[in-house]
Amino acid sequence: MTTALFSHPDCLQHVNPPGHPEQVARIKAIEAALANPIFDGLDRRAAPLGAEDAIRRAHPKAQIDAIREVIPDTGWARIDPDTTASPGSWNAALRAVGGVCAAVDAVLAGEVANAFVATRPPGHHAERANAMGFCLFSNIAIAALHALETHGLNRVAVLDFDVHHGNGTQDVLWNESRVHFASSHQMPLFPGTGAAHEKGAYLQIRNVPLRAGTGREAMQAAWEGEILPWVKEWTPELVLISAGFDAHRADPLAGLHWTTEDFGWITHRICDLADDCCGGKVVSTLEGGYDLEALADSVGLHVEVLMERGA
Ligand SMILES: [Zn+2]
Repeated sequence: MTTALFSHPDCLQHVNPPGHPEQVARIKAIEAALANPIFDGLDRRAAPLGAEDAIRRAHPKAQIDAIREVIPDTGWARIDPDTTASPGSWNAALRAVGGVCAAVDAVLAGEVANAFVATRPPGHHAERANAMGFCLFSNIAIAALHALETHGLNRVAVLDFDVHHGNGTQDVLWNESRVHFASSHQMPLFPGTGAAHEKGAYLQIRNVPLRAGTGREAMQAAWEGEILPWVKEWTPELVLISAGFDAHRADPLAGLHWTTEDFGWITHRICDLADDCCGGKVVSTLEGGYDLEALADSVGLHVEVLMERGA
């Protein structure tokens, strides 16, 4: 078995204004890193366009229509101070949804051991009725609901190690008892949610805020001490990762001090969880990460670990 890599050139056509940190160059840096021969064993697949039916599980029709209608013919349409749409944003957003849903399909079908989805725009800030924080649709929550509704799963875990809280994922899944959502994130920081007392309608959400300036020790305590045992006890049938790499010490948008090696460690620990609970079934999708060199190195190590664990 191997690791699948889902991507699509359409994801280069979602273009933010000059100087915006969520830039096309992020995908190019990742592609360059994954061109190394050590990644020749990846099962490289094109991310399909996501189905509107799948998106409807997370977002009301009016919100989907609003995104479609805001896409400009030229230039940019501003959705909020951080979030813009360009002419290519609609197809890019559908590839980001479709890639992670197809990755779920491939892993659950046993075609591959695990998968990484290198798409953009990211998704974990997109709430049910509110695109924000560089995100248009809630990619990972859509994938979790896709796994429940089309594959008949009953327990899906969504783990988010992006430095920002996945407020959108939390919003979409707040009333969903069949998904456990756990996140570590810097706090206080955008978007302002993610306090430990935010636990979901079924106590199925676990938020572990981390203080600015902390690094490996606090990260490992959060994951080994709190998140991973809590998820393991629930024995998920599939593990999804909101893989943001902006907790890296080099990242310009935040103040945690994780190293590239820390992303290898956390990937191993999540694979341990998946090995214990569900035959190693892991689907990881790109969220943040804005220092191009740190992003490329960290994604490279993340995928290298997925390949090692999926072999
Ligand atoms: Zn982030």
